[in-house]
Amino acid sequence: MPELPEVETVCCAISPQLVGKNIRSVVIRAEKLRRPLDKNLRAIENKNLCEISRRAKYLIFHFDEINLLIHLGMSGVLRICREDDEILRHDHLSIITEDGLDLRLNDPRRFGLAMIYPVNNPPEFLINLGVEPLSEEFNAKYLFEICKTKSAKIKQVLMEQKNVVGVGNIYACEALFQAEISPLRSVKTLTKTECEKLVAAVKDRLQAGIQAGGTTLRDFFHPDGKPGYFSQKLAVYGKVGEKCMRCSGEIENEKISGRSSFFCPKCQK
Ligand SMILES: [Zn+2]
Repeated sequence: MPELPEVETVCCAISPQLVGKNIRSVVIRAEKLRRPLDKNLRAIENKNLCEISRRAKYLIFHFDEINLLIHLGMSGVLRICREDDEILRHDHLSIITEDGLDLRLNDPRRFGLAMIYPVNNPPEFLINLGVEPLSEEFNAKYLFEICKTKSAKIKQVLMEQKNVVGVGNIYACEALFQAEISPLRSVKTLTKTECEKLVAAVKDRLQAGIQAGGTTLRDFFHPDGKPGYFSQKLAVYGKVGEKCMRCSGEIENEKISGRSSFFCPKCQK
């Protein structure tokens, strides 16, 4: 599944090729993804693309009075090709620029999303998002204040989008390992110092992901349309039964809110 670093990398990768161009046409090849892909999407035709930005795991394509929002869901990939390039299976949407570039959304599992909204009336789910993990707003004080009021486990709090956005299961596990904090800890027991360590670890792991993305960037433009998701060096995620890289402990997996949570019980307290 594309995580925040993938979405950030896609945003940086496609912007230089698309921003400032007019959209000549929008081609819809599927009735629906997560929601119907309706004719509304064609509202961006003959409009100039001013900017592409990221909020949480959403890509936002800014036009004058409307925005196009794309979410990659579980399996979505965006790639830029030429408009006359062969249409591949699951190429559900094409956004074609004045000079014949084709931004294609390929999504085998169809959990993605593409919708238009007026700039002055964004959808509720965008308004209700929490702070960006890489912004200064996400700091130890902020996390500590949240933790004081809750009785949940720290991993749940990290993954709750209204607290902080875009920290998926992989990054939550890896950041908790780096900060030497057990995912099972009740947030009420976290000290300010632990919050500092954890915030730093979340930012560090996400930045590492973005950097890994830079090195695999060309995959996004690969003509075979294969996903360019990053293979990251992971310390605990998916490594149940393996030896901890920090101590002699063994990585365990415990379900928290139905999600697999990998950690080393020996050095994560
Ligand atoms: Zn360990």
